[in-house]
Amino acid sequence: MLATLRKIVQDVTQESNFAASVQLLVSSVRSALGTEVCSIYLVNADRGGYVLAATEGLNQDQIGQTVLSRSQGLVGLVGTRAEPLNLDAAPSHRSFHYVPEIGEEPFNSFLGVPIMHQGRVLGVLVVQQRDPRRFDEFEEAFLVTLSAQLATVVAHAEAIGSHYLSGVQRDIIDDGSFRGFPGAPGIGIGNGVVVHPVADLDAVPLRPATDITVELTLLDRALEAVRNDIRSIIQDFQVSLPQEELALFDAYLHMLDDNALAGDIRAKVRLGQWAQGALKLVIREHVNRFDMMEDPYLRERGSDVKDLGVRVLAYLQRIREKKTQFPKNTVLVGEEVTPSMLANIPADRLCGVISVQGSGNSHVAILARAMGIPAVMGAVDIPAYDLEGVKLIVDGHYGEIFTNPSQQRLEESESLIDQERMFDEELFELKELPCITQDGWRVQLWVNIGLSGDITRSLDRGAEGIGLFRTEIPFMSQDRFPTEAEQRALYREHMEAFEPRPVTMRTLDIGGDKALSYFPIHEENPFLGWRGIRVTLDHPEIFLVQIRAMIKANAGLLGDLRIMLPMISSLSELRSAKILINQAYTEVIEEGIRVKTPQVGVLIEVPAAVYQARLLAKEADFIAVGSNDLTQYMLAVDRNNPRVADLYKEVHPAVLSALREVARAVHAEEKPLGICGELAGTPIGAVLLMAMGYHVLSMNATHLPKVKWVIRNIKRSDARRILARVLRMDTAEEVEDYVQKQLVNAGLGKVVRTKKSRQLVTRGAG
Ligand code: PEP
Ligand code: MG
Repeated sequence: MLATLRKIVQDVTQESNFAASVQLLVSSVRSALGTEVCSIYLVNADRGGYVLAATEGLNQDQIGQTVLSRSQGLVGLVGTRAEPLNLDAAPSHRSFHYVPEIGEEPFNSFLGVPIMHQGRVLGVLVVQQRDPRRFDEFEEAFLVTLSAQLATVVAHAEAIGSHYLSGVQRDIIDDGSFRGFPGAPGIGIGNGVVVHPVADLDAVPLRPATDITVELTLLDRALEAVRNDIRSIIQDFQVSLPQEELALFDAYLHMLDDNALAGDIRAKVRLGQWAQGALKLVIREHVNRFDMMEDPYLRERGSDVKDLGVRVLAYLQRIREKKTQFPKNTVLVGEEVTPSMLANIPADRLCGVISVQGSGNSHVAILARAMGIPAVMGAVDIPAYDLEGVKLIVDGHYGEIFTNPSQQRLEESESLIDQERMFDEELFELKELPCITQDGWRVQLWVNIGLSGDITRSLDRGAEGIGLFRTEIPFMSQDRFPTEAEQRALYREHMEAFEPRPVTMRTLDIGGDKALSYFPIHEENPFLGWRGIRVTLDHPEIFLVQIRAMIKANAGLLGDLRIMLPMISSLSELRSAKILINQAYTEVIEEGIRVKTPQVGVLIEVPAAVYQARLLAKEADFIAVGSNDLTQYMLAVDRNNPRVADLYKEVHPAVLSALREVARAVHAEEKPLGICGELAGTPIGAVLLMAMGYHVLSMNATHLPKVKWVIRNIKRSDARRILARVLRMDTAEEVEDYVQKQLVNAGLGKVVRTKKSRQLVTRGAG
């Protein structure tokens, strides 16, 4: 059963034409279940109901013609109830609706299952039979499983506006509109450049070769490199491996022969495909052929072919890497755009980011916000790999993407960009003014930083300190751990630029979604695993080098060095870290360098730390809240997962109450309190946090002027009144609505997202 399912899904997903793929689906299901009819009805809002999209067994002339309203017939009933319906005498059911043209009179048995995607009914898959019998539970389970797997294919077609009754996918790119989640605010207009993970065949885009001879040469070099690798494996293992195992590598060499894979790939390149695309196509064909085989041994050979393909691809990409160009107005598109991909592109070439994976809370989105680059995350339905060179509008406020936009849409977006620029200029005037409420309450606005380009951006916007230096970002763009001297120079550059302002250096926070290519961590649950302080306490040799670099970088400067520890979940971690920091400090002093004692602070990101905030505050010099992770861990919502992105709510009453508890605990110890999660950079968050008594709001430089504008235009007494109401509310939606209304009433509507319309909006995290 599983093999049949897999084959159907594979065939259907590989069809490039949606109409053909649904037709293939119904005929495969009909023969797999041995039924007389299989049909698929798809919701089509424009036609007001379910359209018969494909059928085997009913009148095929009715495909695209028959439309049932959302409540009509058994199909409508399956959709309304959102569950399977299994009947042995369908025509006598009260919901049965007779459509004369369709030809279903002789069929008594009916089994319909809804096609559901993210809680929505997209269509109904139906099988029918003459015999008046109920389909058995295995048949029902088969159809339910199939439908669940196919839902993403249908959702994708729906999202790209595929005219599934007639259309061909290429056309859909024209003035297409796709949804994701807001990643970084702003609107960007540019052309897609698709990035793909190294050596991932599935991620390789198909694109025409610009020069066939060059592609053939690249291919030959890659093939020869792989052959050499295999020959040396054979040589190295000549003695230690049995002959049968060695024979596998001989087989690899044969597969790479001109009359096997190599010849097929070359033929595709000659037809105009670039080498990586040709490789992908040929490997896919061969793997599919093996996958279909009954014999498990032969089926396994498919993975050998794939392995070979990946080896060749790795060489092709290494050869190509040097040549990757990012033209001006690049919209970076990828299945999973990573922080390091972003960090490696010159910011002046980037005007937008689209990632199929991730959400507004992923680190890559945070980086994009810091860089002021509009980003849409979790655009799960976009055909990312077809967007190479395609004109794109990225609306990071609402998480919308437009492909090959019409002239009208382009003009509309250009005018919105102009309006935003004007508002930014207005805000620029505030640069030198203090962030103080109308009734005299002073709040410090600091910045979160990580890329060297952030310095000017931050100072230009009037940053009063660095509240979070994400030190892992410079680590990511290297191919080994940076030395103490390298780190010291980089940190010094920031400290000097900010002198005499305070600088908060967070110790290396890797793990979770932040990986170092030269220090891979493979875990089932990386966000609950070896992350942040847990890694560095296990590796004092890395930690001590970093701390020494920080302390030395601060030598002779007036600005305070604040060392901040990420992911603290117990007092013992703080104590162990303090011992190491003390050791590093003593070593620096012993080297004869005159330095101040650094302040040591805790980043509260784990719920356990909320409950121990008072104890932590007693032993630390300062406390800051990392609300991004705190929200993730409190709500048990992976901040990167688009499927649950709707559940990630920074103003969830539970999160707000935790933030208030931390504030109380830290005030009781009379220690400085800051926050450096994305919440601090949103107008709603800033008002509530200021009311709770957070002394420092640290945010991406991009948001700083807007937050200053809001705080300078409100009274703290009003903010406290708003907070008091909010703390009695039950849901995040209530909180958001209420505070938004209050801001609008106070004349601050310019920075608030009101309703879903493409007007000037300026907001923070997604
Ligand atoms: C946070 O978790 O809120 C935080 C500031 O750290 P990061 O976003 O880098 O995990
Ligand atoms: Mg964090």
